[in-house]
Amino acid sequence: MRNAPTILHLDMDAFFASVEQASKPSLRGKAVVVGGLGPRGVVATASYEARVFGVHSAMPMGQARRLAPNAAYLVPRFGLYRSISEQVMGLLRGLSPLVEPLSLDEAFVDLEAGAVAWDAASAQLVGERLRADIRAVTGLSGSVGLAASKMLAKIASEQAKPDGLVLIEPGTERAMLGPMTVRTLPGVGPATGDHLRRAGITTVDEIAEAGEDELVRLLGKAHGHALYAMALAHDERPVVAEREAKSVSVEDTYDVDIHDRLRVGMEVQRLADRCVRRLRGAGLSGRTIVLKVRRYDFSTLTRSETLRGPTDDPAVVREAAARLLDSVDTTGGVRLLGVGVTGLADYTQEDLFAQAAAGAEGAAGSSAEEDVAEPVTEQEAVAERRWPAGHDVRHAQYGHGWVQGSGLGRVTVRFETPGAPGPGRVRTFRVDDPELEPAEPLPLVPGGSVDGVRA
Ligand SMILES: [Mg+2]
Repeated sequence: MRNAPTILHLDMDAFFASVEQASKPSLRGKAVVVGGLGPRGVVATASYEARVFGVHSAMPMGQARRLAPNAAYLVPRFGLYRSISEQVMGLLRGLSPLVEPLSLDEAFVDLEAGAVAWDAASAQLVGERLRADIRAVTGLSGSVGLAASKMLAKIASEQAKPDGLVLIEPGTERAMLGPMTVRTLPGVGPATGDHLRRAGITTVDEIAEAGEDELVRLLGKAHGHALYAMALAHDERPVVAEREAKSVSVEDTYDVDIHDRLRVGMEVQRLADRCVRRLRGAGLSGRTIVLKVRRYDFSTLTRSETLRGPTDDPAVVREAAARLLDSVDTTGGVRLLGVGVTGLADYTQEDLFAQAAAGAEGAAGSSAEEDVAEPVTEQEAVAERRWPAGHDVRHAQYGHGWVQGSGLGRVTVRFETPGAPGPGRVRTFRVDDPELEPAEPLPLVPGGSVDGVRA
């Protein structure tokens, strides 16, 4: 491990919800929940105001509505989130060639490789300047962790939240980690946490005291070794650029379209097994399972689900692929099927027990916010086709606004724009009002850009 805190972890604060609050003045300081609004929807991100009520990411939307009935419930605007993510990642790439994105709003940066920091003081300066630059460019806040390893940099950014910076001085890691709960360590989910607790281990110090042999006995060889090393703050994993691009996938084209739903299901299971064999063959694991379906009319759909942690377990991949298939209409026939795993990790220290349990409950959860599978919106597009809550509209007379809600043939729009000093006015229209049409999001910062188009 290096002896300077030059690995930086950036995590944007409540990213999707913060974007919505920044673009909708009436939602500033209010509880905002972004996610799938249909019957199977889950929370992608809750604003800090909504978290006070106990709402968190990956929670079923129905439960969130019971906990926070007065929050604003919005359908994600992934196009806008992606363009803001590009701006943030661009700032990170200005610091170092070694930037490893983990999701739209989270990344590791090796500051030493970029020759911008070499000790605690220079790293602290870079981190503070980065936070200021992110605010200037996007109008949003991000939290920064700095440490001598990836694991500790991520723990530091978690401590820094929201809107802060924490630097862990090399040499102080073990003393800091010691009293923390075992759940702080990556790869320790609820099930592994319970398993350790039954063995009398609740803190990181107790893992170190138990010793490596005991950990291996409790958790198996790979997980036991990895966890013991992390408890001693040993983490040599390098920052790897552009890991997200890596994926393993397999697909089959059929000579004759498959019509039988059972047969489609069996083919998907077979492809999932083949995909896992290739994954394991390469010594990899991944978090996001992707299903690809090309239908009789050559329309191609992809569905994805992001798990709580990386997996290379065939049962987990098979179950996820089957869940994804549930959301695809295959009547009419299928000419191609594919299964892939992306978000690959170079080590497997997942919580297999938790993963399997989550799968059994049918919960497509993810521990990190903002990682919810994108097709949540696609699945619900039918019900909310024209006026999804939170999406942008333009009215010929009243200008730019967003959909506050719709139903019973009416759509309620709040007319306000990102830079406005206060909430805008609300008006209700018939859903087929010819003067109302869907619009593109406006940039959050005046003069900023969306999708590279300057406003
Ligand atoms: Mg975040």
